[in-house]
Amino acid sequence: MTFEKVDLSAIAGIVAKGNTRPQRAKAKATIDTSVRDHNTWFKLKQEFGECSNEDCIDPRLIKNGGNKTIAMVSEIDGKKTCRYCFLEGFLL
Ligand SMILES: [Zn+2]
Repeated sequence: MTFEKVDLSAIAGIVAKGNTRPQRAKAKATIDTSVRDHNTWFKLKQEFGECSNEDCIDPRLIKNGGNKTIAMVSEIDGKKTCRYCFLEGFLL
């Protein structure tokens, strides 16, 4: 390959690409917990605990005859909610 045959527009393209690196994601946006879907649920910080809902609809809890079940819960406004209650709109 001779120097004359180098495609300058290709080089320009590579250089331009190098200048447009995707920006790193900045601090996490606040999670909008009013959107009740699995996508939102899995964005929330989760821990083992008891759902704060007195009428918890977690089928595992119901199966236990209403005894408290330790499950993955997320905290919203100081209260804990399991995934089932979260999706049903508990603490909205
Ligand atoms: Zn629950």
